Amino acid sequence: EHVPAANFIRNIVEADLAAGKHASRRWAGRPGPAAVQAEAPLDAAKIRTRFPPEPNGYLHFGHAKSICLNFGLAEQFGGRCHLRFDDTNPEKEEQEYVDSIIDAVKWLGFHWQDGVEDNLYHASDYFDWMVQFAESLIETGHAYVDSQSAEEMRANRGTLTQPGKDSPYRNRSVAENQDLFRRMQAGEFADGAHILRAKIDMASPNINLRDPAIFRIRHATHHRTGDKFCVYPMYTFAHPIEDALENITHSICTLEFEDQRPFYDWLLERLADAGLLLRPLPHQYEFSRLNLTYVVLSKRKLIQLVEEKHVEGWDDPRLPTLVGARRRGYTAEGFRLLMERIGVTKSDSLIDYSVLEECMRETLNESAERRIAVLDPLKLIITNYPEGQSEECHAPNHPLKPELGKRAMPFSRELWIEREDFMEEPVKGYHRLYPGNMARLRYGFVVKCTGCEKDAAGNVTAVLCEYLPDSKSGTPGADNYKVKGNLHWVSAAHAYAAEVRLYDRLFKVANPGGRRGGDPEELERDFLDDINPNSKVVIGAQLEPALKDAKAEERFQFERHGYFVADRVDSKAGAPVFNRAVTLKDSWGH
Ligand code: ATP
Ligand code: MG
Ligand code: MG
Repeated sequence: EHVPAANFIRNIVEADLAAGKHASRRWAGRPGPAAVQAEAPLDAAKIRTRFPPEPNGYLHFGHAKSICLNFGLAEQFGGRCHLRFDDTNPEKEEQEYVDSIIDAVKWLGFHWQDGVEDNLYHASDYFDWMVQFAESLIETGHAYVDSQSAEEMRANRGTLTQPGKDSPYRNRSVAENQDLFRRMQAGEFADGAHILRAKIDMASPNINLRDPAIFRIRHATHHRTGDKFCVYPMYTFAHPIEDALENITHSICTLEFEDQRPFYDWLLERLADAGLLLRPLPHQYEFSRLNLTYVVLSKRKLIQLVEEKHVEGWDDPRLPTLVGARRRGYTAEGFRLLMERIGVTKSDSLIDYSVLEECMRETLNESAERRIAVLDPLKLIITNYPEGQSEECHAPNHPLKPELGKRAMPFSRELWIEREDFMEEPVKGYHRLYPGNMARLRYGFVVKCTGCEKDAAGNVTAVLCEYLPDSKSGTPGADNYKVKGNLHWVSAAHAYAAEVRLYDRLFKVANPGGRRGGDPEELERDFLDDINPNSKVVIGAQLEPALKDAKAEERFQFERHGYFVADRVDSKAGAPVFNRAVTLKDSWGH
């Protein structure tokens, strides 16, 4: 019933395919420059996209948009999507992040291996080629070694309204540049002593074209190449080359790279002219990033939340990380549905968190089996039911999927019900238990409330009732009683008492740390002040016995409450603990 939202990149891919734009591409089954690709057969993949994370952190919901877009297009159009670690920054990258990124992409249900190709790549594998390409730019007069200090370079870059100034080193001879770049690689110079720059135009209105840096000296150990290199490519130089070496057709990134596209094209054109790359060259397309209310997606803020222990780690179910979402009980299908629904455009958009929650609800409603849980337990004593006796009631596992069958739930004299399902003095319109009223114990019997027991302070400690033996659900007598209340329950003698975590949104306002609107004088506030103090509530619940066998990550609808998952970290065999993924209805109100 939902029309897919606009996705302008999908339209571009469709048009490109219709025009046969990529039909002549060759692919040797492995990345490489023209010399490697030239003799290869035509590429069997109609398009190639890539998801290029830098392994310097955990993936968040924003990355999921990029993953769904890139892998989704490949899936839809008979293409392939590469998972490429953009590991050109030796200081910040770690194997821990690489592993977590691999897990997250797999968890979302995407794959880069298909039995023919294993498209997992590392930018660091291309460093030798990048050096060679930089040398070619020097040879053709398109790059030079600059020896200005960082401050001089900054001062000479100019501004949006002022052109930059040429470096005094800009006209070094090819031979001198070759010599210096070789010595940079040999480790003769300290970090920052020289830098290799593209020679384009210091007066360009696009600051990104004012002789951008392409290789810098960095004496650092890289997590994959070790100490082999002491010069590392700049991201803006490395990224287009990575795309071209991997034969990417549509290089999709977020809007902040729009101003980089002229350099992307400039660089690849020069390298193709030099015979190092094959045409057609990849093309960059930019889309607007995912922004969500009630969360922060900035890496800096996420790190702060973790390091200052406002949450319990990167996989805290309240964090908008994909490891957190997984622990929370969110579904991969829910993320895919969300991305399909919000579409792909170039205009900035802020998606309400309730849209994400609704996608999770819809997919969980489909897939999650139903179970009974009493979260705020109050004893119900059936005074006319024999002590020590029990019998089975049967509850359907999924109302939309009768093929999933029913399970037995023991019924006995003492049950747990929700505290809110009894009122000694009912308010108007209350149909649950109060003295004199009848209600159905779902999948069990109709009971008539006869009173309650209280402690010295007047708190209700047990509700008393009598059951109607001929009213059992599923028997012919069940229809004899017309009652409005329909309560869930578990047998006290059989229940599994478990820890349940009721998670809610981590922030209590839609724009954590942002202006509340209205008052232009108001300063940005500290986003930490907006943390919701009730985002995690731990309770002791009484669960139906079948839940004792729940496996880690198994998801359920707890009837009347919401969707829950057996926590994948803290659950033990035979002793699962549960996390609330999302309530049955949106309670935040908009
Ligand atoms: P940083 O550059 O600070 O490391 P990043 O979030 O850009 O952070 P990357 O590892 O470069 O991290 O991101 C990988 C891919 O995910 C990039 O193509 C990036 O554009 C995309 N991406 C990141 N954040 C979002 C977002 N909020 N919405 C959509 N795509 C995103
Ligand atoms: Mg990243
Ligand atoms: Mg980035």
